[in-house]
Amino acid sequence: MTQQTTTPPDGLPDQIRHYIDGAFVDSLDGTTFDVLDPVSNETYIQAASGGPDDIDRAVQAAQRAFHEGPWSTMLPRERSRVLHRIADVVESRGEQLAAMESFDSGLPITQAAGQARRAAENFRFFADLIVAQTDDAFKVPGRQANYVNRKPIGVAGLITPWNTPFMLESWKLAPAIATGNSVVLKPAEFTPLSASLWAGIFEEAGLPAGVFNLVNGFGEEGYAGDSLVKHPDVPLISFTGESTTGQLIFANAAPHLKGLSMELGGKSPAVVFADADLEAAINATIFGVFSLNGERCTAGSRILVERSVYDEFVERYAAQAKRVKVGMPDEAETEVGALVHPEHFEKVMSYVELGKSEGRLVAGGGRPEGFETGNFVAPTVFADVPSDARIFQEEIFGPVVAITPFDTEEEALALANNTKYGLAAYVWTNDLKRSHTFAQAVEAGMVWLNSNNVRDLRTPFGGVKASGLGHEGGYRSIDFYTDQQAVHINL
Ligand code: NAD
Repeated sequence: MTQQTTTPPDGLPDQIRHYIDGAFVDSLDGTTFDVLDPVSNETYIQAASGGPDDIDRAVQAAQRAFHEGPWSTMLPRERSRVLHRIADVVESRGEQLAAMESFDSGLPITQAAGQARRAAENFRFFADLIVAQTDDAFKVPGRQANYVNRKPIGVAGLITPWNTPFMLESWKLAPAIATGNSVVLKPAEFTPLSASLWAGIFEEAGLPAGVFNLVNGFGEEGYAGDSLVKHPDVPLISFTGESTTGQLIFANAAPHLKGLSMELGGKSPAVVFADADLEAAINATIFGVFSLNGERCTAGSRILVERSVYDEFVERYAAQAKRVKVGMPDEAETEVGALVHPEHFEKVMSYVELGKSEGRLVAGGGRPEGFETGNFVAPTVFADVPSDARIFQEEIFGPVVAITPFDTEEEALALANNTKYGLAAYVWTNDLKRSHTFAQAVEAGMVWLNSNNVRDLRTPFGGVKASGLGHEGGYRSIDFYTDQQAVHINL
């Protein structure tokens, strides 16, 4: 058996530390945890493991920066300049970022590079948005004038998952600091490497010390994530992760009545009607579940196909899934790399085994040939999956897809809505009226019609049902990270 190995990227630090008040620091009690690379599953670095005291230290630094300025009182134009510089630095370090992200998370290098570009774009987008921001003013002629004062809230707690970590962190960091808040970021424990690069990026771009603070570590009670949620001086929590974690955070934040934004799990349907452009639908649904290793919250992990084209679809889809190139994350031609962590690999593999009794295996079904070690899973396709199957209902978060036939539009809609999740939906049809009525009826926060998963950052991002609480994106992010105070003036 050949053990898979990978070469660490250039510039790997010796250890991963917290970053508080403009300086790298260890945990107060000195504890660390192991970080593995997903190809060898060997520990490649130690990261500082934060607890309540470290969180408190970071929150205090963030509060000082917030109250003593200058960040929270700067003109939007001045903050915008710093955000644009952050984007410039991210772009200039794009290759290094992608190499680190790919090494730490197992994402294919080309896709990690795309995510680094998107992180820069998130900063540019919010840099532009805050200078274009207008607020409401209302006049009652001759009697009263009323206007809205928009104010940053204070210290925002940002808790992020391990899939596309750097990009997802930027999606919270950019609007949180653009609006004048200070932040404490708690990145996912499986993938802390790219988050540690923010400190240098922000320093180079001129962000004042204390505005950005980073505490690494676990999420559970007694550790960094839980302590951040329960800290009384953190009025906002923006969380992305599993729905069950979201429920717990919701409960833990309740005694403090914190502002919450939650982007949670998904089991999104891709619905293919017989009149669709089948070639385009197959290409998009292959990409939709196998890109980013299937570790994508908006993955189209259930494909519903109209019966008259079902057999043809399944046959062509399975053939194409078998051509998806599994490979080492750092190789340019790799389309599916290594799953993030052995624990997650075991979880995905358990669904692959379960699927063999719940559906008809037509592609994959285990490790790809030649990859006896490391967290590699062959793109796996199950057909004829009934709606009560666990692989139809539960988020697998890997390169595994369930295909199910339907006969009528009503049945397609019922199947699409038959999960606890409601993040995204994809609809493939050339019937214009049906595409829009289906979009209206499907229980999903975002719908793509005859389209790949490409976002417009001005639109709402978020899910319904167990997929989330609140929406970010465009001005909704600005709204989440600010208070809108009404000022009334009698004339
Ligand atoms: P997770 O819920 O296990 O962990 C997410 C983060 O929460 C980590 O940083 C973790 O340390 C922290 N955490 C865990 N328990 C906590 C607690 N009690 N208090 C505070 N923090 C705690 O999720 P994951 O496995 O890292 O990420 C995968 C999940 O994220 C999937 O369900 C995926 O769908 C979801 N996700 C959703 C979106 C979206 O936008 N809707 C985007 C990406 C990922």
